[in-house]
Amino acid sequence: MKSMLALHGGVPVVSEPWPQWPAWDEHTEEAVLRVLRSGRWAISGMSTGAPSEERRFGEAFADFVGVPYGVPVVNGSAALVVALESLGVGFGDEVLVPGLVWVACASAVARIGARPVLVDIEPDTFCMCPSSAAAVMTSRTRAILLVHLYSSLADLDAFLALSEKTGVPIVEDCSQAHGAKWRGQRVGSLGSVGTFSFQNSKLLTAGEGGIVVSKHKSLYNALQQLRSDGRRWRRGPSVEGFPDLEEVGEWQGYNFCMTEFQAALLNERLQHLDEENERRAKNALLLESYLADIGHVTLIRRRDGRVTCPTFYHLPFKIDPVGFGGADIDTIRLALQAELGLYLEPVDPPLNKHVLYQPRLSRRFNTLRKTELDVRCFNLPRAAELSTTCFTLPHHALLAHSTAMRNIAEAFEKIKRHFFKL
Ligand SMILES: *Cc1c(COP(=O)(O)O)cnc(C)c1O
Repeated sequence: MKSMLALHGGVPVVSEPWPQWPAWDEHTEEAVLRVLRSGRWAISGMSTGAPSEERRFGEAFADFVGVPYGVPVVNGSAALVVALESLGVGFGDEVLVPGLVWVACASAVARIGARPVLVDIEPDTFCMCPSSAAAVMTSRTRAILLVHLYSSLADLDAFLALSEKTGVPIVEDCSQAHGAKWRGQRVGSLGSVGTFSFQNSKLLTAGEGGIVVSKHKSLYNALQQLRSDGRRWRRGPSVEGFPDLEEVGEWQGYNFCMTEFQAALLNERLQHLDEENERRAKNALLLESYLADIGHVTLIRRRDGRVTCPTFYHLPFKIDPVGFGGADIDTIRLALQAELGLYLEPVDPPLNKHVLYQPRLSRRFNTLRKTELDVRCFNLPRAAELSTTCFTLPHHALLAHSTAMRNIAEAFEKIKRHFFKL
C-alpha cells in the first residue's frame, strides 16, 4: 500500500541511506594518526619542534573568518564563557540572550555570575529582535549575545548600530553558521568577539570543540590566558622538548584547552567547509522551490540581500496546519520522519519554558542569585509561537543528491493527502 503512511506501516518514500555525519576520508584518518605518532597530544605537552595543531588551527580559522586572532577551546559553551570574561563581563552584569536558543547561551552567562536577560525573537528568522533588545537594555547591560540560529543570520546592521549607540559590545555566537557571510564579511568578524562550537552535529566538527575569534589584540591576550590557566604562547621560536606556553597570570583562567587530536581533525575538515556549505545551499533552495508548489510548508530563513553567503544548519519547516487537516505539529513531524527514515529534531521551547534551563536546581547559585535568574519574569510570545509551528531537517540531509530534495517534497505531499482524506 503505497498510499498508507510509513508511520502506520506503509512503504516509506525514502529507502536509501542519508549521507553520514560527520564526514571523513583517508586524509582525516591520517591527520589523527599523525598526532598520535607525534607524541604531543596537547598544547601543554612539550614541543616537537613543529607548530602545534591547535595553534595552526587558531590561525587558520581566524584567517578563514577574516580576523587576526583565534583561540581554540574545549567546546562552544567554554567559548562563550571566555568571550564574555575577556570583555570584562562578570558578577552583577546583565547580558542580552535570545529567548529561543540552545540552553548553553543562557547557562554560560549565569556561570560567570551575570544575569541572562531573555529577549524575544523575530517571527520570521528565529534570531533576537533588535527593537525588543533595545527596549530591555539598562545601565547594567554589559554585552549582547547575538546568535545566528538554524539557517538565519541575526540582523547585524541593527545590532551593530545599537552597539555603537550604547557602547555595549556584541558577542557573536556563530555555532550554527560556520562560514556564513553578511554583506561579504564572514560572521564572527562583525562583533567584538565571535564564538563557534565544533560539537558533533555542527557544520564543522571534531566531536567536541570550540573557538573564539577577534580582531582585537588585547582580547587575544586575555582569551589565551582564560583558556589555559593564565598561560599564553611564549614569544620566540619553539624549542623541541621544551614547553611552548609561558606562565603570565594576568587573568584567572581555566583549563579549556582543545587537544591536538581535535585540532588536527578541524585543520583537515576546514578544507571542505565552503564546498559543503555550497552544496547544502543549492539543495535548500531546490527544496524551497518544490515546497512552494505543495503549499502550507515554508522554510524559516532570512531572505535578505545582506546575507551574501547563507548557511544551512538545522533547516526549520514552518507548518500551516490548515493544509494538514489540522494535525498537530508532532504528528506531522513523526509522519515525515517515518517517510524519510531520518531523525527530525523539534524546535526547542523558549528558555523560560525549557526543562534544561533551571538555575534554581543548582547549588552554584545562592538564593539572591536564584531570584535574579528566575525566568518567570520574561514574556516571549513570538518564540513560543514559532517553537510550536516548526520542526527541523538536519543539515547532512542537504548533502544528499538533489533527487533527495524531490523525495522530501513528495513525502510532505503524501502526508497532506493522507490527512485530507481522513
Ligand atoms: C552548539 C551550540 C552551543 C554550545 O556549544 P557546545 O560545543 O555544545 O558547548 C552554543 N551556542 C549555540 C548557538 C550552539 O548551537
